[in-house]
Amino acid sequence: MKKVISLALCIAMMLCSAFVTSASCEHSYITTEIPATCSERSHTLKTCTICGETEKIYAPLYDEPEGCYFAFEGQINGDVFDVTVSLRNNPGFWANRLTLNYNAQALEVISTAKGDVWTSNASVTVNAESETPYIRFYAENNALANNTKNGLVFSVSFKINGRINDWGLSLNAKSRDNINVDGNTIPFVIIDTATLGYSDHIFDNGIITTEPTNTEAGVIEYTCTECGYIKTDVIPVIGDVNGDGKLNSEDMLLLKRHLAGFTIELSYISKMDVNSDSKVNAKDLLIMKKRFAGLI
Ligand SMILES: [Zn+2]
Ligand SMILES: [Zn+2]
Repeated sequence: MKKVISLALCIAMMLCSAFVTSASCEHSYITTEIPATCSERSHTLKTCTICGETEKIYAPLYDEPEGCYFAFEGQINGDVFDVTVSLRNNPGFWANRLTLNYNAQALEVISTAKGDVWTSNASVTVNAESETPYIRFYAENNALANNTKNGLVFSVSFKINGRINDWGLSLNAKSRDNINVDGNTIPFVIIDTATLGYSDHIFDNGIITTEPTNTEAGVIEYTCTECGYIKTDVIPVIGDVNGDGKLNSEDMLLLKRHLAGFTIELSYISKMDVNSDSKVNAKDLLIMKKRFAGLI
């Protein structure tokens, strides 16, 4: 009988060791530092070498200030960027106005919502048509009498249409619009971590979708290797030294004059290396002549 039990125990232990679950595993982690991308913040990745369980650890984005502050935070979720503005250490606001500026070309407002700090007489308005597009949170006088609640002020969801470096996000507040019941301004700071910890897109080498000609500029398309975002750039007309949109005798004359030692504008010289061999010489002139004659 003893033998049967120990055999059963033995089989049970073998089965267990063959199927280590993360719940029963005494994890042994290795850590990897994962750099920031356009879609995820930099973080430390812990991976268990036994069961394979992973855990992501994000470093805190700011140190908690002592006094009153508005936390301006953001999270990229695919092609949506979710923003929240929260009030902390509120000493008693009576009126509150905050303005969030953004670039309407790079970010498009999908939705806005009031937070639960103030329920009445508070509004969130969007002006995407302004020269400097903005979203404004405004809680009118006396709506907040001696309100010392902390929490969400407002939230915004944007559709991402452009590069993170072009979003132009900034949260602003004027002291005179942020007062207590006695009309005195309340000192506060704005902590902006909205895009902190994200990097811009990481582009591939690009593919030319339209070859430039002697009269038409070309197009090159770069794709982000992380998220698939595509940006396009113009490839100037080859040999268009003076930037008038076409290759002609004026461009060749400028190159000839440069080769003959005349002083030529640097911006012109920068476009003379048409065969991209890092030298400006007679070979470039020959290529320009051939292209102009339609031979290449
Ligand atoms: Zn484990
Ligand atoms: Zn990207």
